[in-house]
Amino acid sequence: MSARATYALLSQRFAREAGSAIRLSNEQRALTATVAGKLNDGAYRMVADPCPCGKPGADLVLCEVDRYGLPLNTVLCSSCGTLRIDPYPDDAGVADFYTRYYQQMYGRAGDKAAYFTKQQAYGERILESIKDKVPAGSFVFEIGCGAGGALEVLQKAGYRVGGCDYSRELIEYGCDRGLSLSWGPPIETLKSLPAASLIYMHHVFEHVRDPLSQLLELRELLAPGGKVLIIVPDVSRISEFPFPAGDLRLFVHIAHRFNFSLEGFRLLAARAGLAVDSLQQRDAHASPEFWAVTSRLSADAKPEVDLHAGQSMLAYLRRTERMRKFRLTRGQFIGLPARIRGKLSRLLGRSRSSPPSIQPDVS
Ligand SMILES: [Zn+2]
Repeated sequence: MSARATYALLSQRFAREAGSAIRLSNEQRALTATVAGKLNDGAYRMVADPCPCGKPGADLVLCEVDRYGLPLNTVLCSSCGTLRIDPYPDDAGVADFYTRYYQQMYGRAGDKAAYFTKQQAYGERILESIKDKVPAGSFVFEIGCGAGGALEVLQKAGYRVGGCDYSRELIEYGCDRGLSLSWGPPIETLKSLPAASLIYMHHVFEHVRDPLSQLLELRELLAPGGKVLIIVPDVSRISEFPFPAGDLRLFVHIAHRFNFSLEGFRLLAARAGLAVDSLQQRDAHASPEFWAVTSRLSADAKPEVDLHAGQSMLAYLRRTERMRKFRLTRGQFIGLPARIRGKLSRLLGRSRSSPPSIQPDVS
């Protein structure tokens, strides 16, 4: 967080002592307490970084606590409207968190076959979006590929595919299905492979601690005419979907360092020497996301700058918080039948066998 950060909490729900915004199991509570301890006692070294849009402008502290109740500040860049957790644990802290706490704290299901099927579903959407832009036979790479369900769809469509992830278990699962997946960091992995015509990230880029450096490196690793496709949650439409039904607190959690605004993403891509070929707002799992296709920027191209992006985002989030309080967001209306079904099934004691009505997150 920069020295110029100003406090502008959206409501008392966003204050440090507010606690978790979701119901936690005993195991989740214990893990959260351990991570909170590491954030508080200096075991995780915290590093402040400016907004990756590169524009000058004050940071506004909107929130002092994450979804799980962790003591983390979320700031809004008053220039571009991107939200980021700042300060944030350094690389060693992030690695410790992902290795030891992330999966269990986020209540991830261990059903790999179901996970693979879910990945195939977004693979179909990716195939649909790229098949006219990336010729069959070219090399396509997924950063954070998990078990490789999406890559399998692309492989069957005639692409040569590769992917990397930090979960050894998931990588093994995908390799057993005949996919060429590697464990390890993306840049090093990509350097040992042919130049990719498409590099994509599905609900991964918002986790990256230093997105500018990553894009700069990816740009150098693309094949001529190659593209980078990035799919991230879209905080600018949280009021419109059953998840998070206007509740910003559900969108703010330790693993997501960023909630990019469209403007912030455009500026970041331009700084990395990438042109945004298309930027589409879409939905998945009843939740908002945006899809950005980028390619190498020609030297003279300059993005148009929206001078009001920061103010617009702030006004939207304040308005949404007021409407959510009175249960007036569109997302709350749409999600109502599922919430009622969930409550009824809990009342009838079937909660253990019923799936949750709303997917809390895809990443
Ligand atoms: Zn910014």
